[in-house]
Amino acid sequence: MVTVIGAGLAGCEAAWQCAERGVPVTLTDMKPLRRSPAHRTDRFAELVCSNSLRGDRLENAAGLLKEELRRLGSLILRCADATRVPAGGALAVDREAFSAAVDAAVRNHPRITVETRIAERIPRESFVIAATGPLTGGALAEDLSRLLGRESLYFYDASAPLIAADSVDMRFAYESARYGRGGADYINCPMDKESFLAFCKELAEAREAPVHGFLDKHVFEGCMPVEVLARRGADTLRFSAMRPVGLRDPATGKGAYAVLQLRRDNAAGTVYNMVGFQTHLAFPEQKRVFSMIPALREAEFLQYGVMHRNSYVDSPRCLDDTYKVTAESEICLRLAGQITGVEGYIESTASGYCAGLFTAMEAAGQAVTPFPRETAVGALAAYIANPANDPFRPTKIHFGLLPPLPEQQAVRDKQEKCRRLSARALERIMR
Ligand SMILES: Cc1cc2nc3c(=O)[nH]c(=O)nc-3n(C[C@H](O)[C@H](O)[C@H](O)COP(=O)(O)OP(=O)(O)OC[C@H]3O[C@@H](n4cnc5c(N)ncnc54)[C@H](O)[C@@H]3O)c2cc1C
Repeated sequence: MVTVIGAGLAGCEAAWQCAERGVPVTLTDMKPLRRSPAHRTDRFAELVCSNSLRGDRLENAAGLLKEELRRLGSLILRCADATRVPAGGALAVDREAFSAAVDAAVRNHPRITVETRIAERIPRESFVIAATGPLTGGALAEDLSRLLGRESLYFYDASAPLIAADSVDMRFAYESARYGRGGADYINCPMDKESFLAFCKELAEAREAPVHGFLDKHVFEGCMPVEVLARRGADTLRFSAMRPVGLRDPATGKGAYAVLQLRRDNAAGTVYNMVGFQTHLAFPEQKRVFSMIPALREAEFLQYGVMHRNSYVDSPRCLDDTYKVTAESEICLRLAGQITGVEGYIESTASGYCAGLFTAMEAAGQAVTPFPRETAVGALAAYIANPANDPFRPTKIHFGLLPPLPEQQAVRDKQEKCRRLSARALERIMR
């Protein structure tokens, strides 16, 4: 019997992998008794911010990680593929349909028993997986610190607003995907130089919602609040969240100085999210400043962006490359998800997959061997367990985590290099 605590992306994947290998699982989650500050529904596997699982091409490390997970039989990837919405080269999902699919799959699995409870300590049982996410707090966080013998680390992360599609003024917007990849999947909201610079100034000076202990230096570089980008300079914003390259208005054939993209958030196309616009401005300020974008003058904000403190453990000093806690203990405890310092939905899923698979193998008395370093799943696990990462920083998957190609296969062309790294990974993943 395996106990999995936390039915987010990592916990559901871990529970599913154990159950599919014949091991009975108790999956404990506190919903609906309590919700973390970022969770808004009572369903399992809730996407707390963006509905995108990022790029889906093999020239992209996130695309490789997803393809590996697909081939390995990931529940999360199966449900994501089944509920995808058009998003150019990315895998984006209808968030409600996605979590409903995962929720139903785990609840209906004959070997998974769902338990509704606020866990306050790690059970001292034989096989446990803790996947309570970046907002793990209270008594459970203290118990985990005691078991690991160290305090958790943290950074701050924000979410982006959601907008009613019919409130976007399409006289100032057009539909298309960047570089014409996919169909007309995004609503693009262009700005000319003058209005963009005025917008950027207001954004940089706008009032933030108070968040205890927050300083700009504590944000995760890969998920920077848009106002922090604006404070770093107009060009920083224009080369990141409001990047205009690859976008031309089909009516005029013209590009713009800066562009906000809106991505479909549900299959019906009634809700869109502001891509890359994670923010922790006060709510009235979000409305005031974002409404300076011409297409959003009358926008209806269905949900505002918020910021949270994310906790993660010092994995290189606590976990091995199978996500197992290394501290002396009678229990076989693995951690999974964002709490291990992997950053992002699919990275959390990958760690959940590994924790579930390896725990099931141990429960069956089998020897456990980590995935090869040449695979994205294996490279991520190797990174979080590498003691040289001191201080430890959370990471998304990227090709720099994989060992380089042997000299005879090395190429200068970046796209080709990524394709070759992906081909090598996919060849090794199923071995
Ligand atoms: C505000 C915010 C925005 C984010 N935005 C993105 C994004 O846009 N894209 C992206 O890729 N990643 C994003 N992330 C990062 C990360 O991918 C998500 O946090 C992801 O949901 C992590 O998955 P998880 O399974 O580790 O944890 P979670 O999805 O948080 O799941 C944890 C589960 O554990 C349960 N739980 C917690 N404590 C207890 C307890 N004591 N007892 C019982 N149950 C408990 C919770 O109810 C929840 O169901 C964001 C994170 C935050 C906080």
